[in-house]
Amino acid sequence: MAIALTPTNMNRAYVIGSPIRHSISPRIHNAAFAALGIDARYEAVEVLPGALQDWVSRVRGPQLLGFNVTVPHKEAIMPFLDEIAGDAALAGAVNTVVVTAPPPSPSPVEGEGGDELPQLSTRLIGLNTDTLGFRRSLAEEAGMALRGRRVVVLGAGGAARAIGVVALQDGAASLVVANRHVDRAERLLTALNELNATTATSAVALASEALVHAIGEADVVVNATSVGLASDEIPIDPSLITPRSLVVDLVYNPRETALSRAARDRGAATLGGIGMLIYQAAAAFEAWSGVEAPIDVMREAAE
Ligand code: NDP
Repeated sequence: MAIALTPTNMNRAYVIGSPIRHSISPRIHNAAFAALGIDARYEAVEVLPGALQDWVSRVRGPQLLGFNVTVPHKEAIMPFLDEIAGDAALAGAVNTVVVTAPPPSPSPVEGEGGDELPQLSTRLIGLNTDTLGFRRSLAEEAGMALRGRRVVVLGAGGAARAIGVVALQDGAASLVVANRHVDRAERLLTALNELNATTATSAVALASEALVHAIGEADVVVNATSVGLASDEIPIDPSLITPRSLVVDLVYNPRETALSRAARDRGAATLGGIGMLIYQAAAAFEAWSGVEAPIDVMREAAE
């Protein structure tokens, strides 16, 4: 039987970004809605940076389930939402917005014009499900948790920050953040360091002796740069990779990146980015619908 989430049966969800045509999120979410008989439609919408505030103010309405946010709006959207919750504040980025009813109005006080209180509209709450997605992909697809692990993250953008949150929340032994612009890696760690004082952290340049040493010692190396996206480029010298490391590439297009291939050739275990994509989508789906996400259906649609 179809689930009717609103009386009009026209529930809507979106992903906004620019460019957005490449997004496979509509395929993943629409397959999940269809499999569970939920009467809803998920669409990709091109929103240019200058049009973000206007789009957010226009999208509120009874049919809105929520929306995903991708490049370049993950940070820029935060001031236009009513609340930032969960890991979004730590990660400094929102990838999922849920809609909730307004908080209950205070009871009208007799004689104080209480009847005239303004009617609040729905509230938009910003979440970050990339942290959940990464943690679940690592656990279910590589059988690993970051507790006690030596972790190297390549990159210092939004995805790297989500991985940094997980490393510190889960008690990694060490976290090295390596970025082309090292000042951005330093800012990332300054923002996150208070999460866990026992993890040893350092910011290094992508081309540095410190990184050579860190990769040689690492249990997990995560590529959170955009290097390798729709290309054969590799962000580090692959000869640095040792068989003791798990190499995770968050890039999921192509399905197997040149970094993953090189790591496999050097005897390292590898994990691609598609699992994180599916699990972050599942967490968003569950936040919107209140129904357990059909992971297998979502994976099949993504692949
Ligand atoms: P950002 O734009 O926030 O960050 C990009 C990062 O890549 C920065 O650290 C940047 O370094 C680095 N970078 C870009 N070009 C180069 C280059 N030529 N050489 C070295 N470093 C470079 O992007 P996101 O953090 O949002 O995304 C990063 C990647 O992760 C993307 O490929 C994205 O598709 C993927 N991703 C995957 C997810 C999944 O579910 N699997 C979820 C989210 C992201 P600098 O600061 O020096 O410019």
